[in-house]
Amino acid sequence: MERRFYDELAQTGLRGDMLSDELSLRILTSSTVELLPLLDAAYQVRKKYTGKEVQLHIINNAQNGYCPEDCHYCAQAKSSDADIEAYPIKSDEEMLEEAKCAYESGAFRYCMVFAGRGPSKTRVEHLAGLIGKIKSRYPIQVCLSAGLIDNEAAQTLKQAGLDRLNHNLNTSERHYPQICTTHTYQDRLDTLHAAQTASIELCAGIIVGMGEKEKDVIEVAKTLRKLEVQSIPVNFLIPIPGNALSDAPDLNPEYCLRVLCLYRFLNPRAEIRVAAGREVHLRSMEVMALYPANSLFVEGYLNTRGASRKQTLQMIKDAGFTIKADRALEELLKQEDEAKDLLTIDDSKTLLKDVKDLRPQM
Ligand code: SF4
Repeated sequence: MERRFYDELAQTGLRGDMLSDELSLRILTSSTVELLPLLDAAYQVRKKYTGKEVQLHIINNAQNGYCPEDCHYCAQAKSSDADIEAYPIKSDEEMLEEAKCAYESGAFRYCMVFAGRGPSKTRVEHLAGLIGKIKSRYPIQVCLSAGLIDNEAAQTLKQAGLDRLNHNLNTSERHYPQICTTHTYQDRLDTLHAAQTASIELCAGIIVGMGEKEKDVIEVAKTLRKLEVQSIPVNFLIPIPGNALSDAPDLNPEYCLRVLCLYRFLNPRAEIRVAAGREVHLRSMEVMALYPANSLFVEGYLNTRGASRKQTLQMIKDAGFTIKADRALEELLKQEDEAKDLLTIDDSKTLLKDVKDLRPQM
C-alpha cells in the first residue's frame, strides 16, 4: 500500500471521521496493509490526543469467586472449574491499604472489581462509603467494576466521588449469547447508560479471541464510539484451564496490534488500554502496543499474573514514553530496583494469581 494510504488513514483518525467497515476489515486482515506504517498512522492519532503519556492501572480483585453468572471467559463464573481460591469481599481496611500501595507505586487509577451479577442496595451504600474514604485520602482516580448497575445506584456512586465505571461489552451483540447466558447484551448497555446519565465516565471494552469474527471486533469498536466511551480496555483472551473458554485462541501479535490500531482510529480520543493478555499474545511485540494504546495494567489482571511492575515500567522508559502520575518514571524504577521480590511469568504454573498476590496486605 502506498504511503498516501497511511497518511489518509491518520488524517481520518485525526479528524475523528468514521472508517467504513470495508476499510476496518482491511486493517484487521489484509496483508497489503503493512503493520509498521499502520502503527505509525495510529501513533499520530494517539500522539495528538494523549501525547507520549501512558496511564498505569492497578486492578484490585476485591472479591474472588462466588459469582452466579456464567461468563465463559471468567475464572470466577459459577460454570468455571478454574483453580481459584475464593474469598468474600475484602474489608475496607484492606482495600484502603491497597489503594495506598497503588497510589505509591505510580498508578493513575485504582480499579476495584467485585464479582457478581450486580450489587444490592446495601452493597452500593457500602461501596459509596469506601469510595468516599479512598478519594479523601489519596489523589487517585477510582474506577469500579461491580456488575449490572441501575440509575439509582449510579447516582449514589457518583455522589460518593466515583470517577469511572467499568462494564465491558466484551463482544458484539450478535456473539454475546455464545459467551454468556445469564445476562444479555442489553443488560450491559443499560448499565453503561445508567452510568452515563449519572455523569460517571465510562470504561468499556472487548475481549478478543472468544470465537468472534472480525466483523464483531469492528462492531464493538463502533458501538463504543457511539457511546462516547472514554476508556476502552482491549483484552486478548487468556485461556484459563477450567473455564468454558479454555482453548488457546487463534491470535498472533500482528493481529492484536491491528486490533489496537483499529480501535485508535475509530475512537481517537479514548484512553485505549492494552489490557489482559498483552504479555501472552503480543509476546516480543508487546512494546509496539504503546503506539496505538496509551494505557495498560501493571501487576497483572483479575485472576492472572502479568509482567512485573519493573518490567512494565522499564518497557515504557525504553520506548521513550512517559507516565501519567505525580511521580517520575525514573523514581518509580529506582524504587523497583530496591525491591527484591519481583514477579516474573516463567511458566504456565504461575498463570493464576495465588491468594498472596490477590491479598498482599493479609
Ligand atoms: S465477568 Fe463478572 S459477572 Fe461475569 S462471571 Fe466473572 S465476575 Fe461474574
